Amino acid sequence: MSNQSYDVVVIGGGPGGYVAAIRCAQLGMKTACVEKRDALGGTCLNVGCIPSKALLQASEHYDAAGQHFADMGIKVGSLKLDLDGMMGHKDSVVDANTKGIEFLFKKNKVDWLKGWGSIPEKGKVSVKSEKGKETLYDAKHIIIATGSDVVSLPGIDIDEKRIVSSTGALKLDKVPKSMVVIGGGVIGLEMGTVWQRLGAKVTVVEYLDKILPTMDGEVSKSMLKVLGSQGMEFKLGSKVLSAKTSAKDVTLEIEPAKGGDKENLKADVVLVAIGRKPYMDGLGLEKLGVALTERGQIETDAHFKTSVDGIYAIGDCIVGPMLAHKAEEDGVALAEMLDGQKPHVNYDIVPSVVYTWPEVASSGKTEEQLKADGVAYKSGKFPFSANGRARAMGMTDGFVKVLACKKTDRVLGVHIIGPNAGEMIHEVVTIMEFGGAAEDIARICHAHPTLSEAVKEAALAVDGRPIHM
Ligand code: FAD
Ligand code: NAD
Repeated sequence: MSNQSYDVVVIGGGPGGYVAAIRCAQLGMKTACVEKRDALGGTCLNVGCIPSKALLQASEHYDAAGQHFADMGIKVGSLKLDLDGMMGHKDSVVDANTKGIEFLFKKNKVDWLKGWGSIPEKGKVSVKSEKGKETLYDAKHIIIATGSDVVSLPGIDIDEKRIVSSTGALKLDKVPKSMVVIGGGVIGLEMGTVWQRLGAKVTVVEYLDKILPTMDGEVSKSMLKVLGSQGMEFKLGSKVLSAKTSAKDVTLEIEPAKGGDKENLKADVVLVAIGRKPYMDGLGLEKLGVALTERGQIETDAHFKTSVDGIYAIGDCIVGPMLAHKAEEDGVALAEMLDGQKPHVNYDIVPSVVYTWPEVASSGKTEEQLKADGVAYKSGKFPFSANGRARAMGMTDGFVKVLACKKTDRVLGVHIIGPNAGEMIHEVVTIMEFGGAAEDIARICHAHPTLSEAVKEAALAVDGRPIHM
């Protein structure tokens, strides 16, 4: 009997894979998507972006009711945390989102092939069901979108109870009295924020001498101060040597990264958040001869082609920021290329958002990058403490910083710390996409009173003429 055949088989149903599959189907290609999880949506919908934001939102309300409502004349009786209820909210949000992708697959006639995908040879995909039944499919084009996985530290076993990854940190069954977070990056700060708001004493141990090390230096410094004022403690320039787990806690041995005296840190729960690595287990890439980069990502050209004809890769398993929206754009661009179109994604301005309070949002170049590249630039900055709406909201931490070319005024980067920074940034991303100038933003009439007026003022500040500062 001949195998069932498809124009495209995508392996992995995360934001890269499911979006690629839907776009291929929209363009008339017969498409299937292989996913081994019980639910579609990948890391993002199941154990990443969506559940973490559900907990961030819920814990933010809890924190506001306990810490900030009184400032606005609202008295709350005795506030009580219902952790099971909060986790229930998170689970129902995840469920609604993953079911949504199933619906979209049906609507677009994408077949979900449930099971473990591998590529036994060029043009063929094998899918092994949970019960061990293996089915072979023919595929004109194969897209690998298998995402990424947690990285651990040598000698530290993640048991997802006392020593957890982000996955375990999304489902703790009680609030730990103390939590040590290893890694002051995005996951560490977001998940540390959740548990701190719910009552844990959080200490972040970071190897480098700053948090959010890839962000603009001023942003990194300001966030250290803001999070510190919220009670988060930091041990920068520190490395973890070992972890010992007992029935009631974990003892970490740490020492300064540059060498020096060792010290012990005890915590009820330790979160390991030192980055993620591309995931390609069991695909059979070695046998096929698919080339990898030095950092273990699947090597692709500008058209997402791997070193083997007919096999493509997108998302977290290739080079680039490990972000859901980047994976989605990869997926759309590849589908359109397979359709013979010439799509384009501007990877230089992919926005990056940290959903702490205040939020951090960044796109384009940092000041450090502009200096290193020898680009002459102007900087305009406006603090939320001078913005009427931010004052009314009682949320005056942070600023907007716009970086523009000294000669042409073209916007080269934007960095925001503030309420709703992740929504506000898209105005500037749009301007950058169109090659616009700071003066363009400065001349647009912004509604009053809005937080976005701070963006306009920062653009005015590039030319030294902010009105409200
Ligand atoms: P994934 O989402 O990892 O999906 C890959 C899928 O492939 C998985 O479902 C896996 O089961 C499946 N798979 C793997 N191998 C096989 C196989 N052989 N056969 C069948 N199926 C297979 N990004 C943001 O942009 N914003 C955020 O707010 C954000 N928050 C995050 C919070 C956390 C806690 C984490 C861990 C990540 C977060 N990310 C966020 C990152 C984001 O989740 C990833 O960048 C994104 O999911 C990558 O998409 P992907 O499709 O490449 O891979
Ligand atoms: P990350 O790269 O953002 O941060 C890791 C941090 O750990 C860095 O500051 C690094 O210097 C530090 N570190 C590395 N090794 C260490 C060690 N041995 N000891 C102490 N510190 C060490 O990685 P992450 O926070 O694990 O997140 C993984 C990926 O998931 C990121 O690429 C991120 O883009 C994505 N993500 C995005 C969001 C978002 O967009 N809001 C949220 C969560 C995760």
